[in-house]
Amino acid sequence: MPSTPTTVTVLRDVRPWGGQRADLHVADGLITAVVPHDPAAAPADGTVEGGGLLALPGLVNAHAHVDKSWWGKPWVSYGGEGGTQGRIAHERAHRDELGIPGVDVTLAVLRESVRTGTTAVRTHVDVDLGVGLRGLEVVREAVATLGGAVHAEIVAFPQDGVLRRPGVLELLDQAAAAGAQHVGGLDPASIDRDPVGQLDGLFAIAERHGVGIDVHLHDGGELGAFQIELMIDRTVRAGLQGRVNVAHGFAVGQLPVARQADLVAAMGEAGITMTTVAPIGAAPLPLHALRAAGVDVGLGTDGIRDLWSPYGTGDLLALTTQLARLSGFRHDEDLVTAARIASSDAARFVGRDVHDLVPGAPADVVLVDAENVPDAVVRAPRRALVVAGGRVVARDGDVLV
Ligand SMILES: [Zn+2]
Repeated sequence: MPSTPTTVTVLRDVRPWGGQRADLHVADGLITAVVPHDPAAAPADGTVEGGGLLALPGLVNAHAHVDKSWWGKPWVSYGGEGGTQGRIAHERAHRDELGIPGVDVTLAVLRESVRTGTTAVRTHVDVDLGVGLRGLEVVREAVATLGGAVHAEIVAFPQDGVLRRPGVLELLDQAAAAGAQHVGGLDPASIDRDPVGQLDGLFAIAERHGVGIDVHLHDGGELGAFQIELMIDRTVRAGLQGRVNVAHGFAVGQLPVARQADLVAAMGEAGITMTTVAPIGAAPLPLHALRAAGVDVGLGTDGIRDLWSPYGTGDLLALTTQLARLSGFRHDEDLVTAARIASSDAARFVGRDVHDLVPGAPADVVLVDAENVPDAVVRAPRRALVVAGGRVVARDGDVLV
């Protein structure tokens, strides 16, 4: 059995965001003070030595699917047809034989995420006519088993469509009533072929239960932009500013410059957010323009080694390197922005007001041997220590929970 994680009272001699050496004081799972490092202080119970390493906040995976990974199982060869519909059909045909959804597979992928410094996740969880709401229970049980090593926010996700599968809208309503923090959607135009109908259904649930909305939108170009406009209208009308997210949103990166600028401004005014998985081959999102317009952007892994794709490791810092490269980031300040997108600036995606190395924030900290934040982003070095909720949950590549 893994040894009991250490409860931290002082994380000693670390460099928050690459700054001056500091001691982080921790109580009840929160950072209570960040003070200049005192080399003369006698170690107390719960003092953990940081050895002058660089400290970042725990990484935030803002778009995961921890219910559908086969991480930890023998290799599963890629099969079935390509495209969104092809992958949906393949997954529905083969998930049962892999025990998906299941607590053991969800635990395996969550442990791997913790090992690489992720301490908070917004995960989509499949809700459909086959599994009903079982996936939500599975994910909750796995998260509870880890005892606070990872905080999870749940999106009830209609992976197989909403209106085209009668009964799914009711399942989403039940999921929201049962505590899912968000309801998801999927390409309202190309999957349901009824964008107004799907979005009206989702927004009605959000208004009824006070939950957020998080829609996977692969539809590109004007078709995608049109659906974002439908979401903007409904967000403002329902007073759901800050509660509605567009996942992927490839269309935003594909529009002509002037059209893109108008849409981004309208998204910012409506408090719409976006999550990206930094996909290779897609037109990059205009990260600076989005952030300048007030559109918060989160970074996520999407599926990790599942029936959609064998790729993905769950290492969000390595994904930050990819985001930075795809975005053409080279200057130090841009590389720091990438690190903030993957951590402190993603607080709202996991239901937190603050997620940073400051008093009042959850004591979620990742230590790496790096010269500064840009060095950490381009190199994604091994995570030397991971603290979550004030406990040491991983050390030198070993998960302790
Ligand atoms: Zn996804």
